[in-house]
Amino acid sequence: MTKSKTYFIYTYGCQMNVADSERIAGDYQSRGYREAKSLEQADEIVINTCSVRQSAEDRVVGLLYNLSLKLKSRAKRPKIILTGCMLHYGNDRLRQMLPTIDEILPINKIGSDKLKLRQSPPPGQATPHRLIQSCSMPDPSAGRHAWIPISTGCNSFCTFCIVPLSRGREKSRPQAEILREVRDLIDRGYESITLLGQNVNSYGLEKIGISLRKHLDNNREIPAPQTQYRAFSGKPPFVKLLEALRQFKALKKISFMTSNPWDFYPELIDCLAQNPKIDRLIHLPVQSGDNEILRRMNRGYTREQYLTLINKIREKIPEAEFGTDIIVGFPGETEEQFQNTVDLCRRVGFKVAYIAKYSPRPGTVSAKLYKDDVPYPEKKRRWEILDKLINKK
Ligand code: SAM
Repeated sequence: MTKSKTYFIYTYGCQMNVADSERIAGDYQSRGYREAKSLEQADEIVINTCSVRQSAEDRVVGLLYNLSLKLKSRAKRPKIILTGCMLHYGNDRLRQMLPTIDEILPINKIGSDKLKLRQSPPPGQATPHRLIQSCSMPDPSAGRHAWIPISTGCNSFCTFCIVPLSRGREKSRPQAEILREVRDLIDRGYESITLLGQNVNSYGLEKIGISLRKHLDNNREIPAPQTQYRAFSGKPPFVKLLEALRQFKALKKISFMTSNPWDFYPELIDCLAQNPKIDRLIHLPVQSGDNEILRRMNRGYTREQYLTLINKIREKIPEAEFGTDIIVGFPGETEEQFQNTVDLCRRVGFKVAYIAKYSPRPGTVSAKLYKDDVPYPEKKRRWEILDKLINKK
């Protein structure tokens, strides 16, 4: 009997990358490969990269350097494949930066819509990767839980964020395809799912366009007034998707991440209130509690609007808890502006926060327009204050 070839996947970044890595693993397994027990034994090594902060890219460079030392003594060198968000640099630049890679695999070639990629592994054995997590988010216990990307890319264009450049424009998967995938997972014993997207609640709305959505009414409240959404009839597509998923009796829990406060409509709050299967821990990135910083981040809401939204959700779902993402040390952030973030965090009482120190990303508006002028020790101090307040309480 010939020995089957083996693979090993290194994953950096957020749950979206974890979901992609699961698909890559599924693809390998459908082609008869086995997961290698260690990196040293693998015939093929996939590195699924993240670009959200410089430190995530630096880790990839470090990993490849260590790999080249480790693999020196091996008779046959494994194939090294690079995928994920760092592909925004383009092939030529990547090969210059990382000369030891053999292949560059665009993430969209992985086939997020191919059900066969999920044929294995079965529930309970679904950890076909090594995860180096650099985004927060609750981590539902592995096993009978699946990550389901419902959209890729992002149209929000927050000035600090590289995602629209690395992942492209927002694109929603058809509802029927998502339902087929969930049906298939349920048939194979999965009981909980997390819907993934940079902005899950704008699911199906990309055709309306962020600029139209943002500028229809600059003084609107959030949740945005109904009138803005005349462009589609009935309930927002994300609400329709949640309602369709609710029909699967065997599905015990539905979570989603992340939500942009901007698109958290009244219908979505009602839908959550009526569906106890939907996770009560709502991840709602705020990024800053200061209006001037929010404006320069192009977040599209004020701290008052964010707090109003939290109150509206709590009115209808008293047991709701909140998680968030915050960036400290955004260019020009003064102590007073940082204290506005501290104050907002106290008011909301977040259960969990993923706190990031600002890192200028090539090609983003903030990197072009603003000087990264908050010194690193100060970013660290602000990070520690929020971490103690929220995560270590
Ligand atoms: N969809 C989320 C939202 O609406 O805010 C953004 C997801 S982003 C890919 C993940 C997190 O990384 C962000 O929420 C932000 O806190 C952090 N992040 C993104 N760009 C960053 C940067 N340039 N420096 C530091 N942190 C950054």
